[in-house]
Amino acid sequence: MDLGLQGKIALVTGGSRGIGRAVAVALAKEGADVTFSYTSNEAAAQAAVAEIEAAGGKGAAVRFDVGDAEAGKAAIDALVKEKGALHILVNNAGVSIDGLLMRYKDEDLARILKTNVEGPFYLARAASRHMMKAKWGRIIMMGSVVGATGNVGQTAYASTKAALEGMAKSLARELASRNITANVVSPGFIGTDMTDVLPDAVKDAMLTGIPLARMGRPEEVAAAVSFLCSEAASYITGHVLHVNGGMYM
Ligand code: NAP
Repeated sequence: MDLGLQGKIALVTGGSRGIGRAVAVALAKEGADVTFSYTSNEAAAQAAVAEIEAAGGKGAAVRFDVGDAEAGKAAIDALVKEKGALHILVNNAGVSIDGLLMRYKDEDLARILKTNVEGPFYLARAASRHMMKAKWGRIIMMGSVVGATGNVGQTAYASTKAALEGMAKSLARELASRNITANVVSPGFIGTDMTDVLPDAVKDAMLTGIPLARMGRPEEVAAAVSFLCSEAASYITGHVLHVNGGMYM
């Protein structure tokens, strides 16, 4: 299926590793001109650019922290100045800082809210200005199954992911008249650096609750993102698309 992404200008946050990297590569393979952000891992960022180019795509890395509103706006404005437009924003970057409520530190709550909620808000605000001018846009939030189900030890993380659903649905209503859609892709248990750190016992316990009986691959999440960014998804907005092997339905 031709997704109609040739020539579209995309920004993917947190594209140096994991799901964001798979999204950046998938969009570039479909013909989008992809810039992705990262904060610290320069080697991973360069490897991701090389992977995009090896696949015949156009890609570039830009370093900024999504929680820094000024830096995000500056990156988007610079991107639009250079490329002439911004059509697709994938708010993928996120951190998980887990811990039981009673012991959860204030500074961890501040950090997780900044990266997972404030960042997507600032970037959607900066990007939507340009999308409104172009009268075409796609905004994707990277949610999580725990935003719908909750999870022990993830009160803060699950709250941030639930917030993205409210954010996307509100944007869907606010921006619809300008032909801009806003959706959430909500992964289940996906094999990345974020989940590699979990003890084997936790991984085994999680697998028992997944009908497809395996972890997902970043590429399987990326396929859902590419679809929602495409012309084929032009009448889908305010939707939460779960990619979780049946873990939650
Ligand atoms: P990951 O492997 O830890 O990769 C995170 C990416 O985000 C990296 O590219 C990292 O780059 C970047 N990043 C982190 N903090 C950032 C910040 N403040 N500003 C800009 N970039 C930042 O994570 P992942 O597993 O691919 O997860 C990606 C998204 O999917 C997250 O929103 C996560 O919550 C969500 N998710 C993941 C799973 C899963 O099972 N893996 C399940 C549900 C939802 P640097 O290291 O250079 O900063």
